[in-house]
Amino acid sequence: MGCGSSKPKSLYKQVVIVGGGYSGSYLAYLLQKFSLCEIILIDPKDCMHYFFAVPRCIVEPEFLKHSFIPFEDFVKKFVKGTVTSINAKKKLVLVNGARKIPYDYLVIATGSSSSFPIKLNKTCHGASKEDATNLYKAFTEEMKRAPDIILAGGNLLNIEIAGEIRADYPDKKVSLLCNENEKLICSSLPKELDEELRKLLYKKDIDLVSESEITNFESLVSNKFTNGQHLEKTNGKKIEADLVINCNEPEPSKDFCKEALGEALLESGKIKVDSFKARGCENIYSLGEATDVEEVLTPYNIQRQAEYLASRIQAEISNEEFTGSYQSSEFALLIAFGRYDGVGYENGNLLDEDDVMEKKSATFNVDIIWSSLGLHPPEL
Ligand SMILES: Cc1cc2nc3c(=O)[nH]c(=O)nc-3n(C[C@H](O)[C@H](O)[C@H](O)COP(=O)(O)OP(=O)(O)OC[C@H]3O[C@@H](n4cnc5c(N)ncnc54)[C@H](O)[C@@H]3O)c2cc1C
Repeated sequence: MGCGSSKPKSLYKQVVIVGGGYSGSYLAYLLQKFSLCEIILIDPKDCMHYFFAVPRCIVEPEFLKHSFIPFEDFVKKFVKGTVTSINAKKKLVLVNGARKIPYDYLVIATGSSSSFPIKLNKTCHGASKEDATNLYKAFTEEMKRAPDIILAGGNLLNIEIAGEIRADYPDKKVSLLCNENEKLICSSLPKELDEELRKLLYKKDIDLVSESEITNFESLVSNKFTNGQHLEKTNGKKIEADLVINCNEPEPSKDFCKEALGEALLESGKIKVDSFKARGCENIYSLGEATDVEEVLTPYNIQRQAEYLASRIQAEISNEEFTGSYQSSEFALLIAFGRYDGVGYENGNLLDEDDVMEKKSATFNVDIIWSSLGLHPPEL
């Protein structure tokens, strides 16, 4: 894209990226190689948290060193803080309600928030790498003490957490609370994958408990070992529940951008984008889980989105015509179940167990994530 020294300074643009999840981080890493812009990445934490590996970290705290990647290791300009508002007319963002940062191009990559232990941004907003590591280690101790564990929801994470616990603690009773009328994970899950997953859960002795039969869920203590606690069923039976892992549905982080986005901010809290540009907004883009793009957000798809957006922004800055187009990929999903098991689906077919192990279960792809950011992962 040309060498910066031969271009007039006036061509330089400032690109501000709000949110250092994998989508914002990878975009920042890609764009900072481009000589005509300066990138500023803003996030309340001091490191990228690779959430995908949370299930492994819960049973193997040593794995935490793979899931926190300090921003200073791969981003030249990082601002630690939360964007509290955007002034689209003046083209600036406000960090922590005080610091103004101007932008020429703004990218909103704020994903969604969930309770700990899934994500850090709802319950432990702004946690440092050290704090976060200690929080997860403490959670592992709670999990170890609980003989009966309930995971609230048949989503991907709960299933993967159940798999990790089953693999390392075969004597614990592990149950998934889910809606018996719905597919596991998501409504678009292919039928054969849903069936394969249910077979695996059955084989691994993970109980599926119908949430409509539980009468006291709201009164239970979550995410903390609570000896003697139990679920009560409509038929009067009780299920022991010493640890309830309840990480509600992810919510998009939206309040800070309401005014600037106007109609591009949908009721769901997602951002309506056209090829990753926020609809009707000048120089505001978005990617990853913050957008309404319908795609399973595997690390691979996040990379594709970031690569596309990086090319689009580079073309705009260089005043070049951009002819690229983005095609959401076909449904693909890998579900790890401990280090050696799992089920998966790609290109319209179920994958065999060895494939899933190689592509996900063994390491949760931490090596791919680190190397995509130009780094070497710590030894596995
Ligand atoms: C434990 C876990 C495992 C998962 N496993 C899989 C999987 O195997 N396959 C799969 O397809 N998907 C998986 N997902 C989903 C996947 O992780 C998400 O889709 C992905 O993290 C989305 O990335 P993102 O960068 O868009 O958003 P996020 O990862 O949510 O990152 C958003 C970032 O924005 C920051 N932020 C938010 N608001 C502000 C603000 N106002 N100012 C500054 N910064 C802000 C947050 O601190 C955060 O760092 C998993 C999710 C979790 C939680």
